[in-house]
Amino acid sequence: MIDLRSDTVTRPSAEMRAAIASAPVGDDVYSDDPTVNALEERVAELFGKEAGVFTPTGSLSNQLGIRTLVKPGEELLTETFAHIVRAELGAGAAFSGITTRTWEGDHGLLNAQDAMAIARPDSGPYLVSTTAIAIENTHNFGGGTVQPISEIRKLRELTSKVGIATHLDGARIWNAHIASGVSFKDYGENFDTVSVCFSKGLGAPIGSMLLSTKDRVREARVWRKRYGAGMRQVGILADGVNFALDNNIAALAEDHRRAHEIAEACVAAVPQSVDLEYVHTNIVVINLVGAKQSAQELAAALKDAGILSSALGPTTLRLVTHRDLTDQDISKTNSVLPELLQGAFKL
Ligand SMILES: *Cc1c(COP(=O)(O)O)cnc(C)c1O
Repeated sequence: MIDLRSDTVTRPSAEMRAAIASAPVGDDVYSDDPTVNALEERVAELFGKEAGVFTPTGSLSNQLGIRTLVKPGEELLTETFAHIVRAELGAGAAFSGITTRTWEGDHGLLNAQDAMAIARPDSGPYLVSTTAIAIENTHNFGGGTVQPISEIRKLRELTSKVGIATHLDGARIWNAHIASGVSFKDYGENFDTVSVCFSKGLGAPIGSMLLSTKDRVREARVWRKRYGAGMRQVGILADGVNFALDNNIAALAEDHRRAHEIAEACVAAVPQSVDLEYVHTNIVVINLVGAKQSAQELAAALKDAGILSSALGPTTLRLVTHRDLTDQDISKTNSVLPELLQGAFKL
């Protein structure tokens, strides 16, 4: 099977497994694991932050971040298809009493004015006060789109004037960096809290991290334990991350090239099926509006041909490239998908 469902399907390579095997470890609840301590410092330094706390998932690091910024009954704003409001099962409301409102961005892309237009800081005793805004980069359901640094900076400037904090859901910030050339520090300085994931395109088996000030990270560490995610000999995981950071960042450019090749093959078959202008990184979103087959039906046909994809809605099929694929897998996809896509529109 050629698995294009997500970049989360990547498995640790033999070299990564070998590196993990010799990791020095200790009990991280006592802060005794030297490998995870060093990794937290390393990643914090990479993004220009004071401290970091390792978490098992990106959802947890997002949730720990926003709960240090927003008090119960206050409001977090996001784009309407953001992972924090679409794919974390209401965790902000369920665990932290956080209310949310959303604005809609073209392919998830940030326009700072759109976010500020719905922001209501310091609303007094009658209306909900906005205390934070979260930005996703790259934007997953937007199709892996890269947020323009100019809009991120504009948002930082406008929010800091009115005392609104900013959170970055940087699950795929590695991809954004490779596609845009913007440094991790330039991204980091525009946010109070930053969440990054190591278990997607970077290929580590498990792990994410929340980065912020020492005070906020100390608070997040308490809540991580309270949620039951204080882990023990976690250096085993952290060393996989070290390997990924040392070896796997630059190679994301290959994933981006391959996604573009798939997108081009789709456009050659059915011009309106993919908007090439928005294929910025490793995600290809196929738009089946006007097709006679649903995304589920096309996904089933692809599966019969040995290709796994994700139907995100009746007219939306998503393909994600990643480091466990070969150029041969991409050629095979491009020899099967365009024809099936044409069939879906003609039938
Ligand atoms: C994958 C992802 C996360 C975190 O997902 P987990 O499965 O909880 O690790 C967060 N935000 C975005 C945008 C993601 O794509």
